[in-house]
Amino acid sequence: MTTLNADPQELTKFGDLAHNWWDPDGEFRPLHRINPLRLDWIDSQARLAGKTALDVGCGGGILSESMAARGADVLGIDLSTKPLRVAQLHAMETGQERLRYREVAAEALAAEMPASFDVVTCMEMLEHVPDPASVVRACADLVKPGGWVFFSTLNRSAKAFVQAIVGAEHLLKLLPKGTHEYSRFIRPSELARWCRDAGLSNRGFKGMQYNPVTGHYWLSDDTSVNYLLACRSAP
Ligand code: SAH
Repeated sequence: MTTLNADPQELTKFGDLAHNWWDPDGEFRPLHRINPLRLDWIDSQARLAGKTALDVGCGGGILSESMAARGADVLGIDLSTKPLRVAQLHAMETGQERLRYREVAAEALAAEMPASFDVVTCMEMLEHVPDPASVVRACADLVKPGGWVFFSTLNRSAKAFVQAIVGAEHLLKLLPKGTHEYSRFIRPSELARWCRDAGLSNRGFKGMQYNPVTGHYWLSDDTSVNYLLACRSAP
């Protein structure tokens, strides 16, 4: 029997908050705020219109739905049932027809339908998983030759500890306490190595930054806290 690459406590944590997923001022406010930035960055490289996209660890569907609105046919997958229900209900409310959701592990889907998607996204999810390199390999298996894979996660740096845990969870209360565990944060060099080992070529990092005074988020070249990585599979 193969064990599922998931931490049940993590899945329950997101399940317990799922009803607030689409509240732009609730626990998932940071995801709502960064979404236009990451969506534009993904779209500018992968040109979403008319493409098939897979969103791994989609949660309540903030990114999935916005990629569908840009004209991609999107499948969102997650292993937490409640966020997926919320995602499905929201897609019904907005009448988004280019969007489907499934409760399935990335590794299982990769075995079922390898090389099937033009674009694979996996945002703010790797740092919640026991074996993130296995998810990276699954994403590489799921993308078509020459397709794009995008990741985002938190760097294992002192600055990320201060900003993402002390600042965001304890001082500013942007995120519930216990949202993130420092030891699971991932250095850009580690993520780059997993991607390379999975046969993906690195197309560049971007940092995501936040100013707690102005509440402003923006993309930069500073990857010391929250960062994105774009990759391509071999043609
Ligand atoms: N990617 C979304 C949601 C991020 S929250 C976004 O950026 O908007 C992290 C999500 O990862 C949660 O929905 C959680 O249920 C999911 N998750 C955690 N472990 C997972 C696993 N092993 N497999 C699939 N999804 C997982």
